[in-house]
Amino acid sequence: MSHAYDGRTRPKVTPPPPPRRAVRCPFSYCRRFYGIKLIVCVVLARHRRRVRRTAPRAMSTARALGARQRVERASSRRGRGDGPHRARALQCLRVWASSTSTQGDRDTIAGIATPVVASSGGIAIVRLSGEDAVAIAGRVFAVGRGGGGRENFQFESHRATYGVVYARDTDAGNASGRKIIDEVIALAFLAPRSYTAEDVVELHCHGGAVCVQRVLRRCLDEGARLARNGEFTLRAFLNGRLDLAQAEAVHALVSAKTTAAADSALATMRGGLTTPVSQARTLCVDLLAELEARLDFDDEMVPLDVDAIAAKAAAAGETVKDVLQTARRGALLETGVTVAIVGRPNVGKSRLLNALTRSERSIVTSREGTTRDVVEASVNIGGLPATLLDTAGIRSETDDEVEQIGVERSRAAAAGADVVVLVVDAERGWTTEDYAIWESEISNNARASGSAVLVINKTDVADAANATPPDEVISTFSAVVHVSAATGDNLSSLESAVVNTVSGGAVDAEGGAWAANQRQAEALQVAADSLDRLKGTIAAEMPLDFWTIDLREAAFALGTVTGEDTTEDILDTIFERFCIGK
Ligand code: GDP
Repeated sequence: MSHAYDGRTRPKVTPPPPPRRAVRCPFSYCRRFYGIKLIVCVVLARHRRRVRRTAPRAMSTARALGARQRVERASSRRGRGDGPHRARALQCLRVWASSTSTQGDRDTIAGIATPVVASSGGIAIVRLSGEDAVAIAGRVFAVGRGGGGRENFQFESHRATYGVVYARDTDAGNASGRKIIDEVIALAFLAPRSYTAEDVVELHCHGGAVCVQRVLRRCLDEGARLARNGEFTLRAFLNGRLDLAQAEAVHALVSAKTTAAADSALATMRGGLTTPVSQARTLCVDLLAELEARLDFDDEMVPLDVDAIAAKAAAAGETVKDVLQTARRGALLETGVTVAIVGRPNVGKSRLLNALTRSERSIVTSREGTTRDVVEASVNIGGLPATLLDTAGIRSETDDEVEQIGVERSRAAAAGADVVVLVVDAERGWTTEDYAIWESEISNNARASGSAVLVINKTDVADAANATPPDEVISTFSAVVHVSAATGDNLSSLESAVVNTVSGGAVDAEGGAWAANQRQAEALQVAADSLDRLKGTIAAEMPLDFWTIDLREAAFALGTVTGEDTTEDILDTIFERFCIGK
């Protein structure tokens, strides 16, 4: 009997019984092997897929070599960056701790949290942190003026208690018992509600150097270890209380020189920088997870939406670039600017410096050539820490040797300054000497052109229009400001002009906005470059493995900003700048 087969429906045929000694599939002996067969099929299918995937790698040798280098670079970075950050950071701390001490990160540490300066400050603080902080504080501290409550006293979190710190039992005391070292306030912050998320006890001693040193010594005698630089903040990071950017902001805040710098550090401490950087990193990590899943299960997934991936990578890149924009402001707030005030003798340079610093730092006279050397003054200009340099009046026809040296120094100051302020006298008008100075110090000075401000001074006695130079000269200045150093008129415009010249508007007088520091900017630049490269990798239709290399590099770089990825080098660089007690 025969059946017609139309090609669409499976013909129902009863298979003939297999001949007794025929070679058969080993899995067809028994239905019980069906599961195993299925597994083997899946494994074979995956193997085939891998073979298929490697096929496109048969690209040109040069391209393949370049790609391979990138794979190696990325995988070496991956080695340092994989895994949960805290475990890795703890590892770093152990390496760090064991390199400098036989003791480790579980010690209870003690340090002086306030500056140690003789005869200064009403209060100085010794800070203890760690498992035994409360026990150690309990052994050195006793409640009340005479220490009467010592036996039953228990530290309560966030509660201040007045008492005394005793000397060791072996130290000689007065007739009534042990010797008292200092009267203190003890303030406990029990874990996890403390700066380090460990038990913390602060002993607020009398100020100056002696009391606080003696109280610290007592804590060390009772088993605390002297804290290393920044170890309190490092523990706060390791215990998840702060991320790395916030930890760095603590240092920036305490070393801020202007209110704008302090505001900026505070904004970072409150998470300003972390939020966009973490968002960009999350985008990279999500994309990475999707691409890696595709490398394994491509056949089972919907087709890859390349445009969506490119859009997400571009969004991450934009965020990183926005954060990078703040780096200029960060650098200015950290290092400040140098402003050289130059001009002919007697145009009012010294008076201008005095007006800006609100001091009598420079000598002001109507005699020419009074300022013989460069006079320096530190000042806050529109929120930026600035060093003003009042220079000797520049004139070429002097025979005075000292004045000539002063003129040379003026030229050197102008050449090295971030901003050059050329002062001219409204009363005298724009002169050929002014033109000569402009030519030598600004027009022919690559550094100064574009970062120079023209100040027309003495507007209280003459019209500024008298001293307005020709257009070709004006066009080389970033701003022209009319001021009176004598009356202080329009000095705020001069300050704004200086700040805008140097920062391109990145710093406002109020500060407030967070900014990336130099280390963070370097990491952000690596991330931005990797994401830019990813664009090219996608456009060149390279295999998915290469997309993941760029993404992994970007994610790691972003992780080092917040501390989600870190290395012992990074931690060392950051925390060695801190002082003990921070
Ligand atoms: P420098 O040589 O450029 O440093 O000039 P000084 O600061 O020593 O000032 C030279 C003279 O100009 C002094 O007598 C000042 O009092 C005077 N002077 C400076 N600035 C002003 C100003 O804004 N208005 C007036 N009326 N006089 C000024």
